[in-house]
Amino acid sequence: MQTETVGDGTPDLAVVACLHGDEQCGKSAIGNLMAERPTFDRAVQFVVANEAAVAANVRFVDEDLNRAFPGNPDGDTYESRLAAELLAELRDRRVLDLHSTHSHPVPFALVDGLDETRRNLVRATGLERVVDIGHIPGGLISHVAGVAVECGYVGTATAERNAERILRNFLGATGALDVPFDESDPEVYRVTGAVTGREYEFVGQNFERVEAGETFARRDGEELHADDPFYPVLMSTEGYDEMVGFSAERLGRLSEVG
Ligand SMILES: [Zn+2]
Repeated sequence: MQTETVGDGTPDLAVVACLHGDEQCGKSAIGNLMAERPTFDRAVQFVVANEAAVAANVRFVDEDLNRAFPGNPDGDTYESRLAAELLAELRDRRVLDLHSTHSHPVPFALVDGLDETRRNLVRATGLERVVDIGHIPGGLISHVAGVAVECGYVGTATAERNAERILRNFLGATGALDVPFDESDPEVYRVTGAVTGREYEFVGQNFERVEAGETFARRDGEELHADDPFYPVLMSTEGYDEMVGFSAERLGRLSEVG
């Protein structure tokens, strides 16, 4: 773990990049921001999480770090020990966790629950969609008050640019940097289930409603149909070995969702 704290005092804000080592848009965004040597009005901790995986340009070394929380200081895997170390650092912080994805090119936010703190973090991203992933256990944002963002397709310059824009917006909205920002009122999606299975081709569009009976994935002439209408989120052909992704319901704008 590489960490740098800027600004005066003990940070209550943290920005985390590279929980997945091959998703380097957040690391680039932090690097580009820091190169300008900006003046921070409050303390912020910047973290590059899985340095060994970054160096090898792989998602993880022994196991998926974002599935290893809370981790164990004496754990058997590199990521189990790293998860425990990260959580000790980040436990009291409000966290922005930057990722990239195989599922969807337009950035969206992810949260575990919608309490007031998380609502404010989501608005601070300036993004137009948020997915409540309370249904999927275990990630960093299930263990800290945080918001994750999927900044675009893995390894693209667009994801890097998006990550930098979102980072600056977030730091502006949280009062850490004196820069312009938007606070959004995003459309809220809530994950209701997972679609499992290997080697499916996903033929729908994320965030576009799949009607009952419609085909959304196929392999070797076999098709998956929706039993009931749903919205695909984090669905892709390449993203996961063991599943297509998640099904969700759309709840409305954040300001309208209780
Ligand atoms: Zn990721």
